[in-house]
Amino acid sequence: MSSVKINTSWTFEAAHQLHAMPDGHKCRRLHGHSYEVVFEVRMSADKDGMTVEYGELRAIVERLDHRYLNEIEGLASPTTENVAAWILAEAEKLPSLSRDPGTDITVRVFEGAHRHCASVHRQGF
Ligand SMILES: [Zn+2]
Repeated sequence: MSSVKINTSWTFEAAHQLHAMPDGHKCRRLHGHSYEVVFEVRMSADKDGMTVEYGELRAIVERLDHRYLNEIEGLASPTTENVAAWILAEAEKLPSLSRDPGTDITVRVFEGAHRHCASVHRQGF
């Protein structure tokens, strides 16, 4: 069966503090960002032509919206890299993604106006 590649993205607003930064660094202070999350999924479609339900991916992002990220389990150090890894770990739990052992997923998280980006990838389930 041939594979299908889908791309979808959502935004969220959230606050965080990076306690690992040195004293006096602006990122140690409480502040917020506008984030964009981009999912790229390559997998086989099922008999109805479906891959992943977009709403399931959106629901993961909505769990971060208007939150203090440091308080979310698994995000005590909410760097862009860790936010991307957290989202990928949550996506890996979706039955629709793990249905195909060849599923390939990339999560990119863009942070703030400077568009800092962290990208994490998993090939195969
Ligand atoms: Zn920040």
